This record gives sequence, C-alpha cells and structure tokens, in this order.
Amino acid sequence: MAEQVLDKIRSVGVVGCGTMGAGIAEIVARNGIEVRFVDVDEVAVEAGYERIRGSLERQVQRERIDGDERDAILGRIEGSAGWEILSTCDLIVEAVPEVLELKQRAFSRIDEHARPDAIIATNTSSLPVMDIAVHTTRPNRVLGFHFFNPAPVMKLIELVRTVITDESVVETAREFAESIGKVPVVVGDRRGFIANQLLFPYLNQAVWMVEGGYATKDDIDAAMRFGAGLPMGPIALTDLVGVDTFVGIMDAIHSQFEDTRFAPRPILGQLAAAAFTGRKSGRGFYRYEAPGSSRTLADADTRPAPDPASIAGWTSVGVLGTGTMASGIAEVCAKAGFEVVVRGRSRDKAEAVLARVAKSLQRMVDKGRVTGEDMVATLGRIRPTIDLEDLADCDLVIEAVAEDLDVKRELFGALAPILKPDALLTTTTSSLPVVTCAMATDRPEKVIGLHFFNPAAIMKLVEIVTTVRTDPDVVEQARAFVERIGKVGVLCGDRAGFIVNTLLFPYLNDAVKMLESHYATAEEIDTAMKLGCGYPMGPFELMDVVGLDITLAIMERLRDEYRQPSYEAAPLLRHLVDAGFLGRKAGRGFYVYT
Ligand code: NAD
Repeated sequence: MAEQVLDKIRSVGVVGCGTMGAGIAEIVARNGIEVRFVDVDEVAVEAGYERIRGSLERQVQRERIDGDERDAILGRIEGSAGWEILSTCDLIVEAVPEVLELKQRAFSRIDEHARPDAIIATNTSSLPVMDIAVHTTRPNRVLGFHFFNPAPVMKLIELVRTVITDESVVETAREFAESIGKVPVVVGDRRGFIANQLLFPYLNQAVWMVEGGYATKDDIDAAMRFGAGLPMGPIALTDLVGVDTFVGIMDAIHSQFEDTRFAPRPILGQLAAAAFTGRKSGRGFYRYEAPGSSRTLADADTRPAPDPASIAGWTSVGVLGTGTMASGIAEVCAKAGFEVVVRGRSRDKAEAVLARVAKSLQRMVDKGRVTGEDMVATLGRIRPTIDLEDLADCDLVIEAVAEDLDVKRELFGALAPILKPDALLTTTTSSLPVVTCAMATDRPEKVIGLHFFNPAAIMKLVEIVTTVRTDPDVVEQARAFVERIGKVGVLCGDRAGFIVNTLLFPYLNDAVKMLESHYATAEEIDTAMKLGCGYPMGPFELMDVVGLDITLAIMERLRDEYRQPSYEAAPLLRHLVDAGFLGRKAGRGFYVYT
C-alpha cells in the first residue's frame, strides 16, 4: 500500500450523530471546518441536528457564544442519510454504537465513498482498531481518534495507531487534533487504550457497590467528589457515558483481561434492556428532568436531611490521638463550637496538637478567612490531657490513634467503662474492621466509624461506617454530627477501604501495571486521566503525594479482604517501595523531586 500524503484537513465527515458524533461535529465546526455527518435515516439525522443545536443553544444562554456564532457554526454542518456526502471529506470519524459488527459495516460503507487519500478514523473507546480497519481497502489510512465526553469540552484525544497505520496519517491526525485545541496522546491498539482501561473498571466497581447495596448511588458519587476531588461521581458518569455504551466498552476490556472485576455488572445489561440508557434517555441509575438534561429528580435513595435535634444536648467531643488526623479533627470540632478534650500518651504530645491547630488557624487568619477573636475562642475550646478519665463527660469520642487493631481495641476496652452510658464511640480507621473495635467495648451498638480524609480541616468528606451491631439512632446522630461540623457524610458498610479507597486504589494499582507493561509512560498516563477524565491529578502524581508505601499497604488490605486476583499489588510498586522511593516525602517516587 503506497503511502498517500494529505497535508491539511479542510472537511470532516462524522458517521453516527449521537452523543459523541454530535459533540465531534460541534467542536470541528467551531474551529471553522466544514462537517458532513451521516446517520441511519432522516429521523436520526434530524435528532443529530437537534443535539448539536441544543448544545449550541445552551452555550448562547451561558453567553459563551452569541447568536451569530451559533448560526455560523450550524451553517458549516450538513447532515444526510446518504453516504455520498462523505466523498469530499479529508478525514472521516466514525461514531456509531460500540458494537464491532456495526463499526465494521460502517467502515465498508465509508470505504465505498471516501476519497483515496482520506483518513478514516474510529472513535471507538475499546474495540481493536485493527479489526475495524481491515474492513476497508486501505487499512494503512485508518487509526483510532478517540474523543472524550463531552467532546467539545474534554481536551484529550487518544490517537490509536495499529501496526499498519502510516506514519503520515498519525502525523496529520496529530496536527489536526492540535489545530482544534486538543491534546493528542499516541498509543498502541489495546482494549480501552489508556483512559478507559483505567476508568471503566473503576466505574464498574462503583456500579457493583450500588448493585450489591453497599452504598447508595448518591453516597458513592458524593464520596468520590468530596473524598477524591473528582469532578463527577462514577454513577453519574456512567449515566453520562450511556449504559449501553458502557456495556460495550466493558465487554471489550473484559475480553482482554479475564477477571470478574472487568465483567460488566448485570444491572448494566438490565438497564440497557429496559431502555434506561442514562442521561440521553432521561433515565439510567438516576432519573433526569428530561432526556439529555443534567438535572436529576429525587428518588428512593434521597435521604431526609439529618435531624439536628438528635444531638441537641451535645457539647463536648473527645479526641484520642495526637497525630495529623487527630489534630485536624480537633480543629474542625472546636471550630464548630464543641468543647474538645484531646488525649495523648504524653503531655508534650497532647500539647503539640494545640500548637498544630494554632498554626493552622493562624494561616486562616493570615488569609483573612478567620478573625483573631475566633482563633482565640477556638483554641480556648481545646483542652489537652493525658488522662482518659477526662473524657468522662464527652458526648462523642473520636479515636484517631495508630492504624493497629490491637492498639485500638485496647483503648476502646479501657475507655468504655469511663464514658457516659449514652456516649458514642467512633474510630477513624481507614482499613480495619470497625465491628472488631466495637466488640472490645460494652456498647457495640453505640460504636460507628467516622472516616475523615487528610487534611481533615479541608477535606469535606466523612464516610460514616455502620457495622452489623450499630443502632439506627446512632447512625442518625452520627449524620447530624457530621453535618454540624460542616462536612458531607456518606453511609457505607464495614468493609476494608469503605467507598473511596476501594474505588481509588485498585485504579492506581492498575495504572502501575499499565506502566510496567510499557504501554505508556507515567507522564502520558497522568495526562490522559487529567485531560480525558478531568481528574485533578494523574495516578502517578497522586501516588507520589499519598506515598507508595501507603498505596501498597492499602492494596494488600483490599486483596486480603476481597481475594480479587487483580487486586494483587503491581510488582513495580513493591520494588519502588523496597528501594525507598516512597514518593514526594522521599524525594523520589514515580517522579524525581528536587
Ligand atoms: P450513541 O448511541 O449516543 O450514538 C450512536 C449514533 O450512531 C446514533 O445517532 C445512531 O443513530 C447512529 N448509528 C447507529 N447505527 C448506525 C449506522 N449503521 N450508521 C450510521 N449511524 C449509525 O453512542 P455514543 O455514546 O455517541 O458512542 C459512539 C461511539 O463513541 C462508540 O464507539 C463509543 O464507544 C464512543 N465513545 C463514547 C463516549 C461516551 O462517553 N458516550 C466517549 C468516547 C467515545
């Protein structure tokens, strides 16, 4: 096959004008380029126009573009049910549903109409580009051109080269991607490429949690937004992607990595069969005001707001421990107006908490967020002690000592007889079974987990972990308390990793496995997750901050709890920990710091 050279893309064809096709048509036309799209019939073509118009209209309402620009963009777009319209295009992007046979048939038809020098691309998220390319007479001019949803907004394009894609085709596609304001990353032809291979197993795991009743969809979404800083929760994202599209992608990933974690959860197939395909149909896991709308309606998962009356008489909180977490929690509780007794093993350690809180508050005063008087009042509410007896009048005690079950159990056992009979006992453990702590006390029904995130003074999320022994009234009191200290509480069961760590760390570990397999570099993977999924940090940047040793310890804990083979820690992670490359704190992890 002789290499055909095409130096500029002036006209782009789009095949299938659904969620992605419409977004691709819009972003291309916004960059002054002609778009010709095809869909199955006149009704589908009109629906395609409607999607594009609707999106542009929303931008006019938000004053991002004006009416003239909208009309000019629409003027560059022409749709048809006749495929001849593609004959003038330099680049044709296929965006039909994620079903291999459909794409193969679409490619044969595109091949009949496309110019010999045209580049033909698939927007597939997960299917082998090669299996699609061979359905044309010019597989060397075929590549993957993978946009992210919403296509006009997300910056990343994964350019997927097969073993026979011409270099000039990759280069032209790269320049074109950059010319429409995108950041291309060139990758090989593997199921799910970079971003989806890492994203979808995480989404599928979140769906599994909903399906299994571990937590509600609202709580899972809130947990990942407020605990991991993600722009959107996984269940809302599943609805945005489209449940049917999701199944296609997950099936493809599963066929490459035979592990139940990668098998699409049955509930996805059920929703798709019921035509509850997500936002685009107006109902998926959530119900929406209308098809295509982002506004959700209340449903059975919507819980009434916590009742402040359930903790009306509460005035005093005990904090056990003197580390970073204990200090953050003491600060948050004192700021909310509680008298806080901080108990440490030595007076120096207990007083160091006060000093740490003072430093943190001083920073807030310097930034003008807290007044000097408020700072003095807050500090005045914190009382350091070494005596457990000083916690006798507390309404709630929060344990934040070392992550060691024996240490925690001993403390719980010693404390219980001292406390008022109706006081609540909570643990901040991030990985140990809360019920085991509960059973060391005389009141297992009054024990609950409150998993804060570091730094506690800033991070909004608290996972409220109920055990099989927790009293329902205690859950309500914990919810009211979390709200009173200004945090977002989510409810979940007593399993290693709770919601956030169970969803976050396997994804990080998968990223290490991808790096280890030489599919992409750490920088490319970080870029893909930030620009393709809107993550605030890439997985390697995040592991360097969290600590590679902590990441390894959490993976080991998850593997022990769930016995999932794919939770086995990546060998590279272990080697880096053995080498002392623990992340930023050690000056080197996946990256080197100066
Ligand atoms: P969609 O269901 O929203 O749209 C598919 C469109 O293709 C519809 O307009 C449909 O009428 C049309 N179509 C169906 N059969 C056709 C045919 N034979 N010929 C021409 N048009 C046909 O699907 P989508 O979510 O836009 O997904 C399209 C592709 O984009 C898939 O490969 C998907 O994996 C990929 N993708 C999706 C997302 C996402 O978040 N939805 C993100 C990136 C990539």
